[in-house]
Order: sequence, then C-alpha cells, then structure tokens
Amino acid sequence: MTKQQQESKANIKSIKCIKCNNQIKNKGKNDFCNTCFQDVVFKRIRKFVRANKYLDNTQELLVIDALTQKILKNIVNKPVLINYDNSNYGKLVKQGKKLTISNKKLLAKVKNKQKILLPVCLDDLELLYLEYFFQGKSEKFKLMLDQKLIPLYFVLTKEECLRLAKLYKTKFNFKSTTTSKFLDSLESEFEGTKHKLRKYIYSK
Ligand SMILES: [Zn+2]
Repeated sequence: MTKQQQESKANIKSIKCIKCNNQIKNKGKNDFCNTCFQDVVFKRIRKFVRANKYLDNTQELLVIDALTQKILKNIVNKPVLINYDNSNYGKLVKQGKKLTISNKKLLAKVKNKQKILLPVCLDDLELLYLEYFFQGKSEKFKLMLDQKLIPLYFVLTKEECLRLAKLYKTKFNFKSTTTSKFLDSLESEFEGTKHKLRKYIYSK
C-alpha cells in the first residue's frame, strides 16, 4: 500500500457525521449518519409543506407510493385521513400555465379537500427548469402546481430519496434521461449543485 493509499484509507475511516460527530460507516461523501440524515430530511420536508400551506384545508391525503406510505408519520402530525392507492401518476406535464400529472384517472379520483402526495423529487423540478432554460425561456418558468397535488420530495435530491428508500427497505422510482444524467454528473463533480440550483429556482 502506498502512502497515498494509506492516507485515503485513513480519510475514509475518519469521516464523522457533521451533526452528531458519530463515525459514519457509509464511505464517500455522505455528510450525515443515518439518524441525522433522517432528522434533516424530514425537517426539510415539514418546513416545505408548512411554508407552502399544502395541508391547510386538506382533510384527506392520497398516498400513491410505498416510500411515502412508510415515512408519512414523520411528516404529518395533524389528523388527516390517509388513503393508500398505489397508482402510477404517469409523469409531470404542463397544462396551460399549470403543472400537473398525466394520469387523468387518478386526478379525477381526487375530491374537494383531498390531495395527492406526489413522489416527485428535486431532480424532477430541476429537469423541468432546465427544459425551459435550454429553450431560452427560463424567465417564463413559474412553479404553478395543480392544487390537488403536494410534491412531497421537491426539497430532496434523487440521491436523498434513494437513500431514504433504502433505509426504509423500499423503492423510489425515478426515470433517467440524458438531461438527468447530465445533472447527476454535475452533482457528483460539484457536490451540492442540485441544492444550489434549487435555491436559485426558488429565489426567482
Ligand atoms: Zn449524526
């Protein structure tokens, strides 16, 4: 083993959680231990849901994916009726000015004071933004979501959703595209890119 290899091995061993200082078993660039990671992401989702008043006047939530079903008790603490449907939402689509989902049958099920918890993540939002950007229309990008929808993971990257799903022994579905691979390579080269882009998009 060369001196350099020894040093890099020592670096991996000495990684500590930036929140609680515990040793992290996962090597690589993970900053938090699993416990702190969950604390941080759940807090971020709760803050996002609160700030956007998504649960105001909502009496019933429709959960359509396994990850949300498992983690929801960490997000919602007010008494709302929760239904599990396990439907495919299709994909995010633009309809006029509004951002909605392509599964019209699912949308039609949603009654007044009900909302769908949509398992879309930050990458989905940024891919939409980049689509506008590459067409030279980024100034027209406005996040106007169908009011029947709550984009639960818009503040979590795909990587964070996948880590969360792994911790809860379930899956998070994400369809890769050429642009999403480009975004991933930026993130792996310049850690934090996706969250910086999120702040940029939300600040507009
Ligand atoms: Zn920790």
